[in-house]
Amino acid sequence: MVRENEIRPSEVAVEPPPATDAGLVFIGRIYSPWTSRLKAPRQGRQDGPLCRIEIFDPWVPALDGIGRFERLEVLYWLHLSRRDLVRQSPANDGSARGTFALRSPVRPNPIGTSIVSLVEVNGPVLLVRGLDCLDGTPLLDLKPDRTLFTPIAPPQPGDFETGD
Ligand code: SAM
Repeated sequence: MVRENEIRPSEVAVEPPPATDAGLVFIGRIYSPWTSRLKAPRQGRQDGPLCRIEIFDPWVPALDGIGRFERLEVLYWLHLSRRDLVRQSPANDGSARGTFALRSPVRPNPIGTSIVSLVEVNGPVLLVRGLDCLDGTPLLDLKPDRTLFTPIAPPQPGDFETGD
């Protein structure tokens, strides 16, 4: 069952400290086919509908080189989420789990992440598949999928550390 902003039986809300933005800036906006939480996918799929990511000035030059990656990791701000639940009941069946044991959009810092397939880059606009967010969701960051990325900077000692 999808939540709008209600609290369900067995869920627990807390009084959160006043929100601060931790210095985050929204670097763009995501345009998707979904205008309702009741209809958005719970997790994006690689064969899902095309979504458009628009990057704001002055961040457009930061896209240089992104086209060489088949998949990207997208981080976004689930701006319509409540942020005060520590126990949640995704099935609304009387049972609850801790927020950090879930990928629910309801969290103290409502950051969502998806791995998307990059279809096209056209100036400040990217077309991707694999998102699950509502139309108009603010964009926090883009990175190459870590499984496709080889660090460009030289290795550091920590790269070779294992075990204790
Ligand atoms: N893939 C991300 C993750 O795992 O971090 C997000 C998963 S979350 C379960 C996806 C759901 O968040 C959608 O089905 C929708 O109900 C909700 N959602 C999407 N965009 C949102 C937004 N901008 N604000 C609040 N809720 C949103």
